[in-house]
Amino acid sequence: MTLFTSSLAKTGPTMRSNYKKLIKQGRVGAVFNAYGANFTRKLQKMAVNNSRLGIPLLFGYDVIHGFRTIFPVPLGEAATWNPHLIGQADSIAAREASAAGLQWTFAPMVDIARDPRWGRIVEGAGEDPYLGSKIAASAVHGFQGQNLGSLHTVMACVKHYAAYGAVIGGRDYNTVNMSKRLLRNVYLPPYKAAVKAGVGSVMPALTEFDGVPSSGNKFLLNKILRNEWNFNGFVVTDYTAIPEMVTAGIAKNNKQAAALALNANVDMDMQGGVYLKELPKLIKEGKVSEAQINQAVRRILRMKFKLGLFKDPYRYCNRQRQKKEVLSKSNKQKEREVAKKSFVLLKNKNSLLPLKKNIKKLAVIGPLANDKEDLLGPWSGAGRKQDNITVLQGIKEAVSPSTDIKYARGTGIRDSSTAGFAKAEKIARQSDAAVVVLGESRDMSGEAASRAHLDIPGNQPALLKAIKKTGTPVILVLMNGRPLTISWANKHIPAILETWFPGTEGGPAISDVLFGDYNPSGRLTVTFPRTVGQVPLYYDHKNTGRPMNPNNKYTSKYIDIKNTPLYPFGYGLSYTTFHYHDLKLSADSIGMGDSLRVSVEVTNTGQRKGEATAELYIRDLTGSVTRPVKELKGFQKLELQPGETKKAHFIITPKKLSFYNINMKDVEEPGKFNVFVGKNARNVIKSHFTLTK
Ligand code: BGC
Repeated sequence: MTLFTSSLAKTGPTMRSNYKKLIKQGRVGAVFNAYGANFTRKLQKMAVNNSRLGIPLLFGYDVIHGFRTIFPVPLGEAATWNPHLIGQADSIAAREASAAGLQWTFAPMVDIARDPRWGRIVEGAGEDPYLGSKIAASAVHGFQGQNLGSLHTVMACVKHYAAYGAVIGGRDYNTVNMSKRLLRNVYLPPYKAAVKAGVGSVMPALTEFDGVPSSGNKFLLNKILRNEWNFNGFVVTDYTAIPEMVTAGIAKNNKQAAALALNANVDMDMQGGVYLKELPKLIKEGKVSEAQINQAVRRILRMKFKLGLFKDPYRYCNRQRQKKEVLSKSNKQKEREVAKKSFVLLKNKNSLLPLKKNIKKLAVIGPLANDKEDLLGPWSGAGRKQDNITVLQGIKEAVSPSTDIKYARGTGIRDSSTAGFAKAEKIARQSDAAVVVLGESRDMSGEAASRAHLDIPGNQPALLKAIKKTGTPVILVLMNGRPLTISWANKHIPAILETWFPGTEGGPAISDVLFGDYNPSGRLTVTFPRTVGQVPLYYDHKNTGRPMNPNNKYTSKYIDIKNTPLYPFGYGLSYTTFHYHDLKLSADSIGMGDSLRVSVEVTNTGQRKGEATAELYIRDLTGSVTRPVKELKGFQKLELQPGETKKAHFIITPKKLSFYNINMKDVEEPGKFNVFVGKNARNVIKSHFTLTK
């Protein structure tokens, strides 16, 4: 019931130097932040050969978006709107990780996040419960495969249960304050989808829900997770969450915290060391029972059996396999595919993009243009910067031999100096176009990386302005882990491509899009605000009794900025254009046992082959509790040749319309519904139907 970190990596506030001694004594059940066939074999031997019962260790690690071949950060992966592809990326991550001695990943992170100040928004699929649930299920299938006993899969751990994404003010580890209805309608669905997909373990959040930290929260862990969802895997805390319950003020001391956690069905203590120390005393005092311990141990051992560790504790520690699987050519190819599909074209005035490969002179500018490390993004597993290909390298490989490429860094990511501007301006002036690569460093997003400002950091906006002033057409390539406030760029820069943190093959993937080998198809899964003052801003808000009306002062709005976002949820351009038309419903009205078929036609009205994402939203006009103005209920990707028309089909079942109503029952209520289909949450065509009793 005890999990300790090795000293190979640090992912939290504490370390422990005596973990090896404790392994030999049989007092450790699992180790995290330990990987590599040799290292894990060495630790496994310590457990198997020395401990009283010789029970093998379980090895876990944060394999979040790849093990050594690093895929785009999860927020980028989500922008593919392709759960199947994300599952494929996760299964590659599992192949690599399992070949390097691991059986367990602390992923997927499925926290709904609507506040870009929160650095961990990068780790999840964005703001929407429907899309988030699809991706959560695919990720679990990707990591775990059909069979946990396979040598190529790892056990997944869905986190951080629950509602960690709603920390007040977007400040990491802060309090969460939320109604149970909002929790159930918006925040729980992705965790539930992961449990339904058979996830082997669950990690409670470091935060509290309704005044009780998640690791001691019986409502979350006993009532919902175990009783309602019938979860039968094991629960592992996040880092030192059990002793943190003392600091949070819900337990007087570690002993009381341990009892709280065990009584909430927490099976494994990550890094707290509290179960190890306090449980024997608690049993003696009758505060917890041996039966409870047996139950937790049984849940953990069952997983070790399923993973085949009792058959052969060293089966995952295989150097030859590690060499073969890790960073293989086909893994890198898949990474490039996922990366290029994750990019979102935010603006492309007068079709500045794609650039011609035989462009004569091209300036490549910016602190992220030739940076190998930041491509990895946060939580980069065993990824190494030397494996990565930068944007500059990618561009050099893509252009014709006659193209003259000049590079200038211009400034650092957080610098205040303008010393590098002159050179950057000079090469821009001499070029036919300038690709300017700006954004965040990888440690500016992820855990413990909340920001109160959402601007492109440091002097980079000034550099962008200076390059713009040269008169050379500018293409802004952004790398970042969260929505940034880029109103100035949106107004003045003709082309903007959002590439998140794109991973190992980031440079070539970006070149694929810049030079038109791939027509961008990514769509935002988070709303981009105009300014941080609008945050939290998300598409499925409520209407209110006084919805925004620019001509009426007494309506819900700001006096100094529009309500609308800079780019809405679901937004993303293409090098071609799509026209949505002929929205058809199979009936005006359906009963509780029926389902409604919805179709829409999409025509490629431009000159290139491209991929449209038809997004279906509904609005329940009247409910026993107020309902959002739009909710995503389906999406479909369509690949279209120029001039081609295809139909997207959707099925709306009454179940899809259900929600936790005034009696906190998950039911579908009869009434009128709007149906919208379109390119994004704002640009839609509309119809309606009635659900009858
Ligand atoms: C994070 C988790 C992570 C764990 C183990 C914690 O600090 O919140 O997401 O899985 O560390 O590295």
